[in-house]
Amino acid sequence: MTMAGTRTLSIIKPDITRRNLTGEINARLEKAGFRIIAQKRLRLDRPMAESFYNVHRERAFFNDLCASMTSGPVVVQVLESPDAVLRYRNIMGATNPANADEGTIRKDFAESIEANSVHGSDSDENAVREIAFFFSEIEIVG
Ligand code: ATP
Ligand code: MG
Repeated sequence: MTMAGTRTLSIIKPDITRRNLTGEINARLEKAGFRIIAQKRLRLDRPMAESFYNVHRERAFFNDLCASMTSGPVVVQVLESPDAVLRYRNIMGATNPANADEGTIRKDFAESIEANSVHGSDSDENAVREIAFFFSEIEIVG
């Protein structure tokens, strides 16, 4: 039985898969206490990227964001831990790696604000929605 709020949706972005660093991200996640309870590698097409980032449709960076997210493979994952959403946001670091704290994933790996290595859901509500966007329940094995 999984309690509400223990899952978050993670995306390992194309800048990481391009540099062959997927395993380094996963090692960090597991060392930080997350269980990777679902995972698959895929290539987002433009409609999928636009749909996933629909909340940002009116933002100036929307086109560049969608181009970046479709520029190579991504690895989508469901992470499980107590307070998964908040804990993952904390180890991800700030959106702009220039502002990210020491020891965070974005501080250590991100190339730019756009190629910033990982995505993590920003609320439990969005985690539920984003997990359902990529995974069916039988693909998630806690
Ligand atoms: P994510 O949603 O990917 O976990 P986030 O929640 O830290 O990141 P958001 O504000 O949701 O940041 O923005 C989504 C993504 O859009 C960012 O991860 C980044 O790749 C890109 N982005 C955000 N702001 C900018 C910007 N000013 N210029 C270029 N790209 C940006
Ligand atoms: Mg976000």
